[in-house]
Amino acid sequence: MEAYRDILQKHGFAFKKAFGQNFLGDSNLLDAIVKDAGVGRDTTVLEIGTGAGALTRALSKAAKRVLSYEIDGTLAPVLSETLAGCENTEVVFGDFLKADLKAIEEDLGEYTVCANLPYYVTTPVLLRFVEEAKKCRSVTVMVQEEVAARFSARENTPAYGAVTAAIAHRGTCRTVRKVPRTLFFPRPNVDSAVVRIDFTGGFSVKSERAFRETVKLAFLSRRKTLENNVINALHVSRERAKELLSLAGVGEGVRGETLSPARLGEFSDVLFGEGFFRT
Ligand code: SAM
Repeated sequence: MEAYRDILQKHGFAFKKAFGQNFLGDSNLLDAIVKDAGVGRDTTVLEIGTGAGALTRALSKAAKRVLSYEIDGTLAPVLSETLAGCENTEVVFGDFLKADLKAIEEDLGEYTVCANLPYYVTTPVLLRFVEEAKKCRSVTVMVQEEVAARFSARENTPAYGAVTAAIAHRGTCRTVRKVPRTLFFPRPNVDSAVVRIDFTGGFSVKSERAFRETVKLAFLSRRKTLENNVINALHVSRERAKELLSLAGVGEGVRGETLSPARLGEFSDVLFGEGFFRT
């Protein structure tokens, strides 16, 4: 098959920066990402962002079935050529963020996500799997290097944030591969990394909503103490805020970003137990 770049050119395809269109073509890298994701003959894969179909094709060769979402309909003629013969693969043209994940899961059963994510929607796409998915076993995605650092950051570091806590609650995250910007076309201004999140381990909380709201509250104003953020977010007196923190065993003057994801989980259980975030 001709190189992906040539096929795109032949079809007069115009790259759209707004859709985060930085494509891959290096077959060694593509096969390595498929391996990183642990895709095998019995794996059903969900991909977000088909692009010219380079990763899709590599996934199709290894997997049982591939379902791939692509927002840009002008890629249709390109994909008819690049995915010719990939009988186990279906491309749906539409915005994945608006897709019905419950219906997708009913169709797919257990599945693995593997994607070179469009950078402008990395976090919302990832949070869909972390917060909503029921049948997703793992997520292996290419993201900007600095975003990869955020996903698995330790507490009390600048990279630590709400998304780190959300991921840690559901599983474990590690960076499996660094990818230089030179391997993309067009070439982006940043380097990338492949991260893999496995939905095993993590920790349980009494209420998912209370956990989400507590994490939001903890990072409301990073420089402020957790006590001040509690007062501002929950509209309680300083005395009540002190009481809530002491019920969770959190000392005075502590900032939210110093608490590990599991400690944030414990604090959310206290808040939930005290009647917050119930409606
Ligand atoms: N998988 C291809 C590759 O590795 O060469 C393309 C990756 S490119 C970084 C991201 C792709 O996601 C683009 O083709 C873009 O049009 C598509 N995309 C952007 N936003 C999307 C969305 N909300 N839903 C589905 N696809 C989207």
